[in-house]
Amino acid sequence: MSLIVTKFGGTSLCDLERVQAAAQKAVACRQEGHEVIVVVSAMAGETDKLEDLGYSISTRPDPREMDVLLASGEQVSIALIAMAIQDLGVPAMSYLGNQVPVYTTECHQRARITEVGCEELRRSIDQGAIPVVAGFQGVASTGEITTIGRGGSDTTAVAIAVAMGALECRIYTDVDGVYTADPRIVEQARRMDRVTFEEMLELAALGAEVLHLRSVEYARRYSIPLKVFSSFIDGPGTLIVEEGESMEQPEVSAITFDKNEAKVTITNVPDIPGIAYQLLGPVGDANISVDMIVQNVSRDERTDLTFTVPRNDFEQSLEILRDQVIRLRREAEDPTLYEMEVIGDDAIAKVTAVGLGMRSHAGIATKMFETLAQYGINIQMISTSEIKISVVIHEDFCELAVRMLHSAFDLGAD
Ligand code: ASP
Ligand code: MG
Repeated sequence: MSLIVTKFGGTSLCDLERVQAAAQKAVACRQEGHEVIVVVSAMAGETDKLEDLGYSISTRPDPREMDVLLASGEQVSIALIAMAIQDLGVPAMSYLGNQVPVYTTECHQRARITEVGCEELRRSIDQGAIPVVAGFQGVASTGEITTIGRGGSDTTAVAIAVAMGALECRIYTDVDGVYTADPRIVEQARRMDRVTFEEMLELAALGAEVLHLRSVEYARRYSIPLKVFSSFIDGPGTLIVEEGESMEQPEVSAITFDKNEAKVTITNVPDIPGIAYQLLGPVGDANISVDMIVQNVSRDERTDLTFTVPRNDFEQSLEILRDQVIRLRREAEDPTLYEMEVIGDDAIAKVTAVGLGMRSHAGIATKMFETLAQYGINIQMISTSEIKISVVIHEDFCELAVRMLHSAFDLGAD
């Protein structure tokens, strides 16, 4: 029998009616003849509330205790879903991360899944039950409760699908699929029937909030098809798959944006070997992921280095870099070499065009710059990869840029 992992996100569980609807979907999937595992996140808004609670009792809450606190959100929803399934006449059993177990690294609040134990889930299914697993949480080999990062329950679902050899992983969320742009911003945005893992990785990385990035990476690595459905309306959803030979690729598939980044610039950087490492090393050591990095050719042996970091890590990044600059200057034989200044700006947005078709079409960047120029939008940073072009602009122009690019690349519904 084929196994399907179905995951319900917070918005799919915003009230008891929705919890019952999710239970019905799980049961319906089983009635179609599949084995089913349900993975859930906390009910809508609960994790935010718990996080706020943590921050209201302590300005710098201990990450270990935050994990214990945040993990409680999912504990509520697994029990409720399991009971709702039981009320439909189907056995169900709830599991916390440490009961599965979902093993993770020890890094609190940012743990990574290392292994999923299958025996207990298998036993539960073989006894005729639907296991209902708490997403987002796990257990380190030391027994510590961990969480894997906000939005992480998608990744739990895929990890379980991979470990259990599932046929596919269905993600029920508040949108009915992946769109060519955020439909709240672009009225003409269209649902895509299918999108490749590669494109979806870029979309997820760039703030299309449909799926947790790591879940897409994970699914791609193990070729587990991912399907995104709405938990509110029935529909075909979006299938996320490997690139098929017959798939004709449009030059641009989607326009996305990210307002959760901030820009950090170090000016007057000496043009010497090892300096990028000296500056970015401590940022990486603090587990801050640096995204776009731009360095220009130097003039007078000095250059500027600019990169983006998650907005939450902005202040800490500035602090780390300022300390590092002071340290370099103090330890240098020639302190005049290290007269750098660290500045930052968090009123930015990154807007990106994504499309596998870019590999074979020329002139996409030009069209993008031309469109932004027409509306007088200044570009602060540019970066490209094989299948995407990103620009950093002032955050106030983000929505306008997304709309204009969406229509410039003809992505709208006919
Ligand atoms: N409940 C967690 C969060 O809100 C995990 C998730 O929803 O995926 O971040
Ligand atoms: Mg989510």
